[in-house]
This record gives sequence, C-alpha cells and structure tokens, in this order.
Amino acid sequence: MSNKVRVRYAPSPTGYLHIGGARSALFNYLFAKKYNGDFVFRIEDTDIERNIEGAEYSQLHDLIWLNIIPDESIEKMNPKYAPYRQMEKLDLYRKYAYELVEKGYAYECYCTSEELEQSRLDQEANGVTAFKYDRRCLHLSEQEKEELRKKGIKPSIRLKVPSNQDLSFTDLVRGDVKFNSDDFGDFVILKSNGIPTYNFAVVIDDHIMEITHVLRGEEHLSNTPKQMMVYNYFGWEHPKFGHMTIIINKNGKKLSKRDLNIMQFMSQYRDKGYLPEAIFNFLLLLGWSPAENKEIFTIEEAFSAFDPARLSKSPSMFDNDYLNHMNSTYIKELSEEKYVELVEPFLKKNELLQGYSTEQLHTIAKIYKSELIYLDQINELLSSVLVKNTEFNKNEIFNENTNLLLNTFAELLEKDSSEKFDKESFKILVNELISLTGIKGKNLYMPIRMALTGHEHGVELFNIINIIGKKEAIRRLKEEIQ
Ligand code: GLU
Repeated sequence: MSNKVRVRYAPSPTGYLHIGGARSALFNYLFAKKYNGDFVFRIEDTDIERNIEGAEYSQLHDLIWLNIIPDESIEKMNPKYAPYRQMEKLDLYRKYAYELVEKGYAYECYCTSEELEQSRLDQEANGVTAFKYDRRCLHLSEQEKEELRKKGIKPSIRLKVPSNQDLSFTDLVRGDVKFNSDDFGDFVILKSNGIPTYNFAVVIDDHIMEITHVLRGEEHLSNTPKQMMVYNYFGWEHPKFGHMTIIINKNGKKLSKRDLNIMQFMSQYRDKGYLPEAIFNFLLLLGWSPAENKEIFTIEEAFSAFDPARLSKSPSMFDNDYLNHMNSTYIKELSEEKYVELVEPFLKKNELLQGYSTEQLHTIAKIYKSELIYLDQINELLSSVLVKNTEFNKNEIFNENTNLLLNTFAELLEKDSSEKFDKESFKILVNELISLTGIKGKNLYMPIRMALTGHEHGVELFNIINIIGKKEAIRRLKEEIQ
C-alpha cells in the first residue's frame, strides 16, 4: 500500500450530489489535505438500472463548486490507477473473482433467482430471519456445471465465507468494532451478468488505487467485515476504515431523500443562492467539532483545524435554521462588489426586472444585502414592491387629507431631477412635503407607503422609489387619488 495518504469519494451515479455525499466527500478531502495526501473521485456505476443522466456530472461538479477539489477524478485520471468507473473494468473484476475461485475461496453458483427465492421462503418457514445461502452449488462437479451451462445458465460467483471467524478492526470514528463471519452467508461477488457486487468491486478498486483510508457513512459499517474477508483471501492489507454517524433531522429521524422539509441536493442550494463557502462551513460542523470555540472557518482554516479524532460519535443534526444563519452571515461578510456580482444573475432572471439597466439592478441589489438568507430571496422580497397589492383596506389608511398628500408628493417627484434617492436627499423632499401639506409622521408615511406598494411593511420609502422608479411611483400615487 502507498505510503502517501490516499482517500476517495466513490458515489454511485444514481442521484445528484446530496448533503450526506457532500459531507463524506468533504471529510475525505480534509483528511487528504491534513496529511498531504490525495483525494480521489471515482464512480461506482454498477447499479446500471438506477443510474441517472447527469448524476455523474453533478456528483463531481457540485463538489468542485463547493471547493472540494479532487486530485484525481474521472476528468483528471492518473493512468496508473485508471479507469475510474467500475463499468469500465468488468474484465478486471472477473479476473480477480476467478482468481479466488482457483484458490478455493470462491465458487460458481448456478442457482436461479427462483431457486434462491424458494430457498429463502423455506428458511423463513423454519424461523430463519436472515437468509443464508445453503451452499448447494459448493460441491458441484465439473460435469454437473457443464450440464447447467448447456441449459444456458450463467453462474454467479460466491465467496466462501468461513464459519465463526472474528473480523475486528479499529474504526477511525468509533474505535474497536467486531463482527463474526457467521453473521452472513456466502455472498455473491460477481453476478451472472458479469457485473461485480459492491462489496467485491470496492475492495478491488481500493486496493488497485492504493487507498489508505476509507471514510464513509455508517450505513456501510456492516459491509466492512465482508470486504475484510475479500482482503484476507487476496492477502492484501486493508485500508483503515472510519464510519461517520448518520445525519438526522430535527425530529431525530434519519435524513431521508424523501424528506420534503429539507432541500437535499447541492444543486438546489446553488440555485437558491447559497454560497459554497457557507455550505462548506456548515458541512464541516455537521459531524465534526473544532477544538476551539469557533464557528466560522475559511477553507484554509478548515484544512489546518480538521482533526479526524474529533469526528462525532453521535448522530449529527441537520439544522436548517443554522444553515440559514451561516449563509446570511457569509452574505453579509461579502464585499459589496462581490455581493453585487453574485446577486446580479438572480436579478437578471426576474421577469419583472427585464427592462432594467445593469446599474439599476446593482442599486436594487445593494438595498437588500443585509437582509438576505440566500441570494434568490431578493426576488421574493422584491415581488411585494414590484407588484403592488391593491387589496388593502383604503378606509383604514386614507382620510380627507390623502388626496392632498399624494398629489403634492407626486408633483414633488415630477419636479425632482435626481436619478435615485438616498436617505439624505429623500429627507429634503419629505421636509418640503411637510411644509406644503402640514402632514407629518405616520400620517405622511403610511398613506404613501400603502399607495406605493399596498403593504404596511417593507424597505424604506426612498428605496421603494429607487426600485420601481420615479415614473411608476407617480403612477401608483395618482392611482389612489380620488
Ligand atoms: N457507492 C457507495 C455509496 O455511495 C460508496 C461506498 C464506499 O464509500 O465504500 O454509498
């Protein structure tokens, strides 16, 4: 095995990059960085029916978007370790599987799925809950095999699992873990269609790619003894394993992709305008705790602070509010220039802003910088300004002075030559309005605000005018004049 630390993230392209996958990748990445090692991205695509279009691209590029940059990947292969997709190495798995057959550690199984199903039902009827293969093909003679092959039956290959063998290892996260080979029966390593099963292919891949440490989700813990057995049969040293705890939601339930209260995929966060640095920081604290009392980590700080010994041993709670807090903190911290650059594309896709100049869009962007949880929220906040609510109760807001107020204000706006207002320039205009009408305070602001947007709350008056423009403001004011 390599002296250099080599870790990997090995997603199946059955879905886009989601929270759990991104977290696994992040911790592997930080682990590699800490020990000056390599972080490898490879693909486990043997579940051919469930693979989906675009998933592979998302798995890699959403990671890159998060600033989790593989040293090697399907797009950056080291020829020494290629291919990086399992379906491109079927011959290799077959070769290794038959090597175990020759050594007597594995055997061909000609059972059909119907026979296996019947055997499972028989075992169940006898009170057996966890099905184990009954080894009926273990001692088939060459002649019997030949006859089965003639019938068109293609064999799978099963590992011969020794009885009562302890399989223990020290998990990087949970310490000593022990299994016994009696927990499982002879499992298939190569299916009859020539495609390897996960527990076999992953061993071959990790061995060939000289992976030194495997950090993955807890759901794979029970797979580890099966993989160790394959390593043992080949006489290969196995990598060090670490299994990260599950992610739970606020109700204590395991995070499920079907949980509609939580956005699952990184692309959804990107589309909403979450910042990759904020998600990186959030994921960092999802299952890992720093030694010092610190919450905000730049990527470089994360590199130096990360210590695998501090990976959490209890489930990590996915707290949406905390993610939102983290993201709004990062937005506030952006320089105005960077912020405007990031929010501009979100404004550009707003149909209500189609005729706006870039400069106007920038003015609008700046109004909301301190308020946004995610960048696309600007469009939600803007909608109540860009589209007036006409359904408010006028009798409650307007009185006999309103016509004078709105009319005078409209005239002042018409006369005013400035392109946009700030607090100071607007104050001058309001003072003029007060002296012309004698109306002030809430009696002045509320009818104007309602005439402009139809909402009691929102951005400051001068910014409403900056957003909708003077012309539209005058139109809305006049619309309310009886
Ligand atoms: N393809 C597996 C998964 O996505 C990888 C398991 C492993 O890291 O060994 O869960």
